[in-house]
Amino acid sequence: MMARAGTRKDAHEPGLKPRLGVSTCLLGENVRYDGTEKSDPLLLKAFGDDVEWAPICPEVECGMTVPRDPMHLADDPDSPRLVTTATGEDQTGRMQTWIRSRLDELAGCNLWGFVLKSRSPSCGTGAVPVLDATGEQAGEAAGLFAAAVAKRFPLLPVADERSLRDDSMWDNFIERLFCLKRYRDSMRPKGSRDSLVAFHAAHELQLMAHDQDVLSKMEELVARSKKLPLDELSARYGELLTTTMEFVATPARNADVLLHALGLLERYMNPGERQDALEAIEEHRGGRASLIVPTKLLGRHIRKYHVEHLATQSCFAAHPLELKLRSHV
Ligand code: SF4
Repeated sequence: MMARAGTRKDAHEPGLKPRLGVSTCLLGENVRYDGTEKSDPLLLKAFGDDVEWAPICPEVECGMTVPRDPMHLADDPDSPRLVTTATGEDQTGRMQTWIRSRLDELAGCNLWGFVLKSRSPSCGTGAVPVLDATGEQAGEAAGLFAAAVAKRFPLLPVADERSLRDDSMWDNFIERLFCLKRYRDSMRPKGSRDSLVAFHAAHELQLMAHDQDVLSKMEELVARSKKLPLDELSARYGELLTTTMEFVATPARNADVLLHALGLLERYMNPGERQDALEAIEEHRGGRASLIVPTKLLGRHIRKYHVEHLATQSCFAAHPLELKLRSHV
């Protein structure tokens, strides 16, 4: 059943489950054009019971039958039409009308993000072939529903099931889910400059592991925060946050950030503790340990020595569920 909006919860609240919109066929429902499903056992196992699914099948929900004629995207890749492959029947208007009302409904469902079916002319998040009148490929685009989701909900991470099979993409998606949830929460019900600045300060180390150029722009923006109207400030910050978090943090970048944290922490540590932490960080850099290992080790020392300015950094204060989901890789 479709999940309905609930009360707002903070991303650090115990017992919280991410609520994700998902292409219904990925959950094993026989809703595809040929009456089949496309469940992905590894993906479902990785998420387990730790998320709440909100299934959506654009083609069935806009009134098409199962089975139905296969469809593809046609004409202009910048503004593709949805047409039936055998007869060329245009389904764009019907789909767009349904999308408008469904997105209004989804806006009230407190979703954290979406996992959509790749290569579908409705759900594909990109790289869906767009064919010209002769049947030749004219370009690529996102499916109509996926494109509308990205436009309407720019602060919600969207991934397809194929990309999530890659360990680094999986880790990035989970990280984005929790980070962007914290940002949205920090700006609700009525955000303020202070809450945006506090969010930025608490995420400084985490952001350093992503795109440095975008981080520089975020820092400039935060420095000028008092000079900008709040709406403009939060819109520009949210856009930059989304952009930098989409940049996948490599083990080398994560290790550099942890070394930076170690530099702030080492004066409290004894030589043995410092050496252990250094080795754990380098194990991660070399791909022999997950990020969780050195992060947890440093986190223990941060708590032991009561280093408050590091304890409040998001990378050392992650929700247990975020750590659990990320440790699947
Ligand atoms: S890809 Fe999307 S539209 Fe197609 S069957 Fe799956 S959920 Fe429905």
